[in-house]
Amino acid sequence: MESVKLKSNSEMPMLGLGTWDLRGQACVQAVKMALNLGYTHIDTAWMYENQGAIGDALKEVGADRERLFITSKVWNTHLHFDGVLEQCEESLRDLQTSYVDLFLIHWPNEAVPLDETFRAMKQLSDEGKVQNVGVSNFSVNLLEESQSISEVPITVNQIKYHPGEQKRDVLQWCNEHRVVVTAYTPLGRGEILVEPALVEIAERQSKTPGQVALRWLVQKGMVVIPKASSEGHLKENMDVFDWFLSEVDMERVDKL
Ligand code: NAP
Repeated sequence: MESVKLKSNSEMPMLGLGTWDLRGQACVQAVKMALNLGYTHIDTAWMYENQGAIGDALKEVGADRERLFITSKVWNTHLHFDGVLEQCEESLRDLQTSYVDLFLIHWPNEAVPLDETFRAMKQLSDEGKVQNVGVSNFSVNLLEESQSISEVPITVNQIKYHPGEQKRDVLQWCNEHRVVVTAYTPLGRGEILVEPALVEIAERQSKTPGQVALRWLVQKGMVVIPKASSEGHLKENMDVFDWFLSEVDMERVDKL
């Protein structure tokens, strides 16, 4: 599995398991299956109401914590100082771990000054409860403001990115400032996979349209976190690292 180096020097696996909408036993099963197949990166959030299930899955599999990369997120109703600390504590307790590898501001909230949120992030980072700090759904303006305020480096911006929805200005800013982009909803929830260009490229490469979409993102340097609950999809999504899209095919997908 390929990884990308964050500003902090932490290695972040370029494929993670998205877990939005997975809860209870369905979540435990999917996470266990993924870990057993070799996934090491799990994406969750306080808002997903599944961190307890993920904690149970990690425990049942007996996963080596040091080999895992766990991302969680604080919801935007809790961006004041105490709220960030409280949600982080709750996440750690539910996940049954003493730290998360990456803690993101899930969505901005203009009612709370950003410097208050980042002060809490700094405290969590100083306490070792959060290894890396990042943001999600941040525009270029908000990224610039965050970078000027935060005492801890902003390592990641998690945004919606797939062939049918490309935020090129944000990607460019992030590339220029060494902020890694994690592409969420990388398969467009399955809806983009009927796109003729993806189907044609997939057939030619003996891959699936989903793999072409993920490969296109990875080849642009983004981390991908497809959600999958079947063994077939989980396996398919892992096979995006040892083959390439030609420049011509990359440009075809760029134009979608
Ligand atoms: P997605 O990953 O684009 O799509 C998930 C859907 O695609 C599921 O129905 C899944 O089916 C199916 N699928 C998985 N692999 C496939 C494959 N190889 N071929 C065909 N279909 C496949 O959508 P998402 O869940 O919205 O996004 C992924 C993750 O991003 C979330 O789970 C969450 O962790 C994160 N996210 C973050 C934010 C944010 O605000 N930061 C917002 C939304 C999502 P099965 O389940 O049946 O396998």
